Amino acid sequence: MKNPVLTIVIPCYNEEEVLPDTILQLSSFLGEMVKEELISEKSKILFVDDGSKDQTWQIIYKSSLINEMIRGLKLSRNVGHQNALLAGLMTARKASDCVISIDADLQDDIHAIREFLIKFHEGNDIVYGARRRRDTDTFFKRNTAQGFYNLMKKMGVDLIYNHADFRLMSKRALDELSRFKEVNLFLRGIIPLLGLRSTTIYYDRKPRLAGETKYPLKKMLAFSFEGITSFSITPIRLVMVIGFMSFCISFLFGAYFLGLKFFGHTEMGWTSLITSIWLIGGLQLIAIGLIGEYIGKIYSETKRRPKFMIDIDTFNMPIPRHIIN
Ligand code: UDP
Ligand code: MG
Repeated sequence: MKNPVLTIVIPCYNEEEVLPDTILQLSSFLGEMVKEELISEKSKILFVDDGSKDQTWQIIYKSSLINEMIRGLKLSRNVGHQNALLAGLMTARKASDCVISIDADLQDDIHAIREFLIKFHEGNDIVYGARRRRDTDTFFKRNTAQGFYNLMKKMGVDLIYNHADFRLMSKRALDELSRFKEVNLFLRGIIPLLGLRSTTIYYDRKPRLAGETKYPLKKMLAFSFEGITSFSITPIRLVMVIGFMSFCISFLFGAYFLGLKFFGHTEMGWTSLITSIWLIGGLQLIAIGLIGEYIGKIYSETKRRPKFMIDIDTFNMPIPRHIIN
């Protein structure tokens, strides 16, 4: 394909500190790509404002007035990184030959975009950006991330190692993605399921340009839990295995206590009774909790709620001039 139209999609949540710099760096880099004839001059940068409470939307909006390349999508409220990203991808889909997603803080190396495009020209539908190392992360984040990948692999989920959401997707890949209707969205797990031709580019990840992470520990844990329970029924199987084991063990105990009754002392210990009550009670609670998790998923899937609500879309529609104050 000669000079494909590229849209770069960037979800932003309270990113006023980094945005001016991000806009500058990305638009000048995109200009270079146009000059090198890797992409069409119709290419755009689409910023998705995920219900920010600071000046994020004002910055995006003002830049879109002076720079033809910049477009904005304002969501009506905060829906989280994955849904905001999806909103951007689905908005950009029709008017783009390929889309690259990247975070607003430019931790990912924008120069890898050139290699993404070369791989796209070579016929790949998906190009994953993966981190070569994790040395800019804290010790804690590095190890928990590692644990997460190992766990997912054991449960049979095919994730690209050290790949976050920095990737290129062709129009075809986006069209296929749009057919996945699930509400509990975990893009990193879904995209390898598309089965299209793909490759991985390695890059070094930098510390955040400015501002602070929008992914504190609590959100990170929720995100991994989401990933696990959206893609695997292994936990529920595990509960069954534990249940089965405790069932077998209870037979052994039974035999032992019967043996004691007939051939030894008859006074049965209060200790064994109370321990087994706690043991069985605990097991039941774990089981109920996990079953509840899956039932909760069925519940939210059957509601078929929209994943995001668009307030203003300057990508597909002319800019309403009264919005800015
Ligand atoms: N983000 C978002 N909605 C949210 C939280 C985060 O759109 O509710 C965006 C954020 O602006 C950034 C990206 O998701 O562009 C990744 O967030 P961050 O850099 O804080 O995560 P980290 O790199 O620390 O994992
Ligand atoms: Mg970041």
